[in-house]
Amino acid sequence: MRVFYAAETERHAPEFFLLRGRPVANEERAERAERLLAGVAAAGLTPEAPPSAGRAPLAAVHSPRYLDFLETAWAAWQALPGASPEVVANVQPRRGEASYPAGVVGRAGWHMGDLACPVGEFTFAAAVRAADCAVAAADAVAGGAGAAYALARPPGHHTSREVAGGHCFLNNAAIAAERLAKGGARPAVLDIDVHHGNGTQAIFYDRPDVMMVSVHTDPNHFYPWFVGHAHETGIGAGEGTNRNLPLKLGADDAAWHEAIAVGLDTVKSFGADVLVLSLGLDVHESDPLGGMTITTDGIRRAGALIAAAGLPVAIIQEGGYLGPALTDNIAGFLGGFLGAQR
Ligand SMILES: [Zn+2]
Repeated sequence: MRVFYAAETERHAPEFFLLRGRPVANEERAERAERLLAGVAAAGLTPEAPPSAGRAPLAAVHSPRYLDFLETAWAAWQALPGASPEVVANVQPRRGEASYPAGVVGRAGWHMGDLACPVGEFTFAAAVRAADCAVAAADAVAGGAGAAYALARPPGHHTSREVAGGHCFLNNAAIAAERLAKGGARPAVLDIDVHHGNGTQAIFYDRPDVMMVSVHTDPNHFYPWFVGHAHETGIGAGEGTNRNLPLKLGADDAAWHEAIAVGLDTVKSFGADVLVLSLGLDVHESDPLGGMTITTDGIRRAGALIAAAGLPVAIIQEGGYLGPALTDNIAGFLGGFLGAQR
């Protein structure tokens, strides 16, 4: 399995995060990449740097004004008197009655869905390189590889066409799926992060040619709070190509595996010929977010379950924070996947 990782992504080192109204250290730290790389090595794999894919794959999924915002916001923010070191929105538009603003404070509110996506000096450059990893994984799979893994951070699945959120800036999985679809494939996204993939759902919600399935903790009690319900099935031409499989808070291995199996059946019924997997290791019982109680062995068996479906897979890293088991969890997933593939 080819593994794509870009060292430049570690220059994105967000500090700000608000937990139940209290500023705390941001969990989406560069140290995550080091722990994931250790797991990649333990699985016997060697990462390679992806080529630059340029702007086109990003623009296929995100709006021009959003890409411009991500690229220019930090410098514009720093020019404000008394600005904080990172761009954090403090206003939100009421979208039904709002017009697109000119200044960076208003634009931050427009393009940031919550306070969990602070933009620092190197955020855009890092997000672009993370997306390069996803594009390289998609291209490897389109070129005949059975699987490829994009060690992408910052993650992406909470970002829609032009609204960031939940540590995510560019939607790496959507960029990969769109590239595969444009290349003539029939992709499905299977999102097994503990959080619903609301950004990916929004991007493909009206699309009949890309299936989106998400297995996650019930949004009534967990981020992203407002979407991810079972009744959201797509709209217009995309009706029937979105499926949400929410699980109750604290779900265990058995419930998670059962939902993943249902997700894989859904992908098969859709007739997908390639899978984009949004892999979130924040399902683990030791993850600081506490949404599910999945064991390391459960993550390993999920890898085997997904490999056994027999589709080529572009694996895109999403969440999974600085719990003690992050290294073992990625090694377990990749080991389980490779073991079942052989
Ligand atoms: Zn997550």
